[in-house]
Amino acid sequence: MLKYGLLINYDFCTGCQTCAVACQQEHDYPAGKCGIKITEYVYEAVKKPVAIDYMPFLTELCDLCASRFKTGEDPACVKHCQSFCMKFGELDKLVKDMEFDSRSVLFTPR
Ligand code: SF4
Ligand code: SF4
Repeated sequence: MLKYGLLINYDFCTGCQTCAVACQQEHDYPAGKCGIKITEYVYEAVKKPVAIDYMPFLTELCDLCASRFKTGEDPACVKHCQSFCMKFGELDKLVKDMEFDSRSVLFTPR
């Protein structure tokens, strides 16, 4: 799985937590444990007093859904993301995708 990663365009993340729920269900993680965490950033913006961004981060528990990979399925979080802002694939292809999107973050499993 070293050649693979997860690209997340946080510009479209709504903070809905669906990816986290999908990850917990897929791995049977107990409450408080998850392969992904969504952090909320509140900051002053140019055209409005306050803006909020949601930033999903993979944790040390993420294995990129190795068991789903073996059967050709997308990771559970990618499949269930409500805004289609997550992409799983080979690292070199994801790096190319980043060239067109500066609000994306690329993750690899730890
Ligand atoms: S890739 Fe799989 S293990 Fe990693 S955060 Fe997504 S659902 Fe969880
Ligand atoms: S499911 Fe998608 S939109 Fe919802 S919090 Fe996760 S990354 Fe963001």
